[in-house]
Amino acid sequence: MTETTTNSVPNIVLNDGNVIPQLGFGVFKVDPDKTSRIVTDAFEVGYRHIDTAAIYHNEEGVGHAIKNSGLAREDLFITTKLWNSEQGTASALDAFDKSLARLQLDYVDLYLIHWPAAVNDRYIESWNTLEKIKESGRARSIGVSNFLVPHLTRLLTETHIVPAVNQIELHPDLQQPEVTAFGRAHGVATEAWSPLSQGRLVKNQSVSDIASRHGKSLAQVILRWHIQVGNIVIPKTNNRDRMAENFAIFDFELSDEEITAINGLESDARIGSHPDDVN
Ligand code: NDP
Repeated sequence: MTETTTNSVPNIVLNDGNVIPQLGFGVFKVDPDKTSRIVTDAFEVGYRHIDTAAIYHNEEGVGHAIKNSGLAREDLFITTKLWNSEQGTASALDAFDKSLARLQLDYVDLYLIHWPAAVNDRYIESWNTLEKIKESGRARSIGVSNFLVPHLTRLLTETHIVPAVNQIELHPDLQQPEVTAFGRAHGVATEAWSPLSQGRLVKNQSVSDIASRHGKSLAQVILRWHIQVGNIVIPKTNNRDRMAENFAIFDFELSDEEITAINGLESDARIGSHPDDVN
């Protein structure tokens, strides 16, 4: 379900009733020393949704930018993530406290288990911890990242709260039909990481043709495709012009034929790690 906000970024209503702006700004690999400035730029461009993680070592910069922004807390949507080595009960609670402190926040909007790290078999215990954190109000919504269908199935059968979000690698070359269909069936919203294939934009003639037809860039067409197929997207850039470019995707619409052409680029081509290989 979507609704349009004043800055034209649609909101997705999550399974717990909270809303997430469908377009956000990711800060993976943003230099910790530059994060405050870059997130400030993103706020000035209009982004209100920021995606960070403990392992990015830049939560302090995000917190600094939030504090100095003058923006109302309720107008922002802030996500951070639990790193693999901190999975568990006491370790996860401690990691969460430290993330909140670095962000200088009383609550985050979304807290994610970063990877299942299934070989350690602690993601069920960790999810129980996130459930307690949600109950305490210090994370408005809780979700997972890099979870495949077997991991999600275990959560659904062995725990109480259905994840609000599953953040996974997703771009035209890797559309993850199985995981996204499972999410649709069970009310888990799909959030696309590396939505622009980490800048290796699709060098495909049909996408170039679509871009020229709309007077838009390849990146804008790909992000618009994500929006229209229902993904939450969190592109990253250090460059303010590209921040604005990636934000200017709500003044055009791809046709059904154009969506189908981009759907046809699926080639099961992963850029990042396979979830089974990350512990
Ligand atoms: P993206 O697909 O967002 O691509 C980022 C790259 O694309 C950068 O090199 C950037 O370069 C370039 N770029 C951005 N905009 C444009 C544009 N308009 N034209 C041309 N190039 C562009 O990759 P990320 O891996 O950063 O993913 C986005 C976010 O997803 C991360 O920041 C993070 O928040 C999240 N993530 C989550 C993971 C997880 O395991 N949960 C794993 C990986 C990412 P430049 O900066 O020079 O503009």
